[in-house]
Amino acid sequence: MTKRITRKDEAELKRTLQLLHGRLLDDLTELEEDAVGSADHPVDTKSNEGTLEAAQEAELEMLEEDERLLHEVVAALRRLEAGTYGACEDCDEPIGRERLHELPYARRCVACETTFEHAPPLADEEPA
Ligand SMILES: [Zn+2]
Repeated sequence: MTKRITRKDEAELKRTLQLLHGRLLDDLTELEEDAVGSADHPVDTKSNEGTLEAAQEAELEMLEEDERLLHEVVAALRRLEAGTYGACEDCDEPIGRERLHELPYARRCVACETTFEHAPPLADEEPA
């Protein structure tokens, strides 16, 4: 039987999510400043191009990953506000406190998440 989260869990998870939210915002600001900075100062030496592009690509990937995570964290905070936090998006069963302490922004219970991950890939997903 999956354990529902208590008020205390909810308060703890909310704090975790808020901290994560702040950290992600800081990260994103920094990464965006870096991206703007490198656009303002284009490197014109051919020898540097390869490394610079690789670095920018890595930064862009981090930026996208942070943005996706931020989106999940904001959604979780909204669910906390709305009082729907901790219920699986698909089956409405409690997600379980252990899973939530591990992944405070989880949308689904383990069973539904597994089903979701094994579902046919979405159109915008690139093949591995
Ligand atoms: Zn579920």
